[in-house]
Amino acid sequence: MNMTAPISQSVRSPVLVRARNVHKSYGQHEVLKGIDLDVRVGETIVILGPSGSGKSTFLRCINHLETMQGGSIVVGDEQVGYQMRGGKLYRASPGVMARQRKDIGMVFQQFNLYPHLTVLQNITEAPIGVHGEKRAEAEAYARALLERVGLSEKESAYPRQLSGGQQQRVAIARALAIKPKLMLFDEPTSALDPELVGEVLATMRDLATQGLTMIVVTHEIGFAKEAADRVIFMDDGKIVEEGSPEQVLVNPTQPRTRAFLNRFI
Ligand code: ADP
Ligand code: MG
Repeated sequence: MNMTAPISQSVRSPVLVRARNVHKSYGQHEVLKGIDLDVRVGETIVILGPSGSGKSTFLRCINHLETMQGGSIVVGDEQVGYQMRGGKLYRASPGVMARQRKDIGMVFQQFNLYPHLTVLQNITEAPIGVHGEKRAEAEAYARALLERVGLSEKESAYPRQLSGGQQQRVAIARALAIKPKLMLFDEPTSALDPELVGEVLATMRDLATQGLTMIVVTHEIGFAKEAADRVIFMDDGKIVEEGSPEQVLVNPTQPRTRAFLNRFI
């Protein structure tokens, strides 16, 4: 793996996620109003936006957790899960869905580790139980991941014996265990005590510089400045502004972006 892919390189790399005119409603409430986004292999995209702007819903559409009412999302070269076309619901075959899910890892605000399993068991559960990997191989890979997130000495611990920051790093290792092509992070540090946020962001920054493709919803502006190749500002179900961290965070052109960023100064 190229450990330090410069931005210019990821800009030229193939498109991994291609979202076009994505519409999503809950009943009469339109939550996504036509989202277009390309994410290239190796890019780190940070999505900012006020609460309720549709950030989580968009990630959930990419990860097959929602039915779209219009538009399309392609991950790799395959159409994602369900979608409506001409008033009809189209659904990818179970085989395609399973394969696509294997390509996408997700980390949530609530880490939701299995409390009755050790750290190592939490990480190997999906590779062994869902994807049929051999135990020895799954454990060897899990140990390598624990080293990557700086928790080698915790493999036999139970989640309750770990801090929130350590639990979230285990959750990141667990998501990486299926060897995803794409990682989605939905406010991964929002549930943490302030003094534990830094260690999780540092882990994510490492992953970004190691060339993983990541879409990160966060309010951590510092992380966006340092780690993002591109920053997206969403409001009211639309992408309002998009560009380099410098463009969006330092010189935003849209009043709504400016108003949002002013809250963090
Ligand atoms: P964000 O992550 O940007 O805070 P969300 O994507 O969670 O925003 O939510 C966008 C809007 O969709 C909000 O108004 C929220 O109340 C609504 N919403 C989210 N999930 C559901 C759901 N399962 N049912 C109905 N409304 C929902
Ligand atoms: Mg959200």
